[in-house]
Amino acid sequence: MENFPGYPEGVSGYDMMEDMRNQALKFDTTIRTGMVTAVDFGSTPYTVTIDDSNKIIADTIIIATGVSAKYLGLPDETKYAGRGVSACATCDGFFFRKKTVAVVGGGDTACEEAAFLSTLADKVYLIVRKNYLRASDIMQKRVLDNPKIEVLFGHNAVGLTGENRVEGVRLVKDLGLETEKHYERAIDGFFLAIGHKPNSDIFKPWIETDENGYIKTKAGTPVTNIPGVFAAGDVADPIYRQAICAAGSGCKAAIEAERYLNR
Ligand code: NDP
Repeated sequence: MENFPGYPEGVSGYDMMEDMRNQALKFDTTIRTGMVTAVDFGSTPYTVTIDDSNKIIADTIIIATGVSAKYLGLPDETKYAGRGVSACATCDGFFFRKKTVAVVGGGDTACEEAAFLSTLADKVYLIVRKNYLRASDIMQKRVLDNPKIEVLFGHNAVGLTGENRVEGVRLVKDLGLETEKHYERAIDGFFLAIGHKPNSDIFKPWIETDENGYIKTKAGTPVTNIPGVFAAGDVADPIYRQAICAAGSGCKAAIEAERYLNR
């Protein structure tokens, strides 16, 4: 994270989450781990089912489920899942020390992942379908000035090859043009960084979302269409999707939840 106020040297997402978790614990927050498998916002108090069994009954709820990485939809992504395909460089980059990897995407996430992977891998291909990067200037510079990163503009990844794990990526340059060219590059790891989908499906029977699944809130507030249910962070932010905005909206949601309980 290069742009979160208060970290002039930047901070890793993992370290920041640890700091935030420890700060919350300092205020006696109870933190429980589990997967929400169902919710019932049909009547108050609301019910949240965890891991298909435990039920939490709550007067007010803040949804902060974030977004999940998108995949290209290639059958090979499934075929090689866990065997060279990943959507999280910080989670899996370690396995590619001194290897060759490819990152797909041209936004801030892709540049950030490529830059991070270049600290571990010997060579990083950045596969960008357009002829320019969408990322912010500072991230573009970091990628373009990095001798370990080779940006393949105007390229689409159409498949992966390998015996038991990823050994190569099949590429198409200038898709649909007269200059269209198909070829393969040897790689050990294939990282997706092409955007995200909001984790809102489970709430959809009750909570209004936009056409892309982002939770709709009353302008400038975390207030959803269900009284006492608030939404914070990327799951409700189709525009900015920045950590600092998520932190700010979490604060707003906490204040709204407290006011709701007091009312
Ligand atoms: P973006 O939506 O900004 O970029 C997605 C990239 O993936 C684009 O280059 C897009 O190409 C490409 N893409 C999408 N679908 C495909 C596909 N099917 N095949 C090939 N390429 C594809 O997503 P990001 O996750 O990068 O960023 C989301 C937001 O989060 C942005 O606002 C960004 O600024 C922010 N962010 C900020 C960070 C920071 O400040 N440190 C770090 C990471 C993200 P095309 O351009 O052709 O559409």
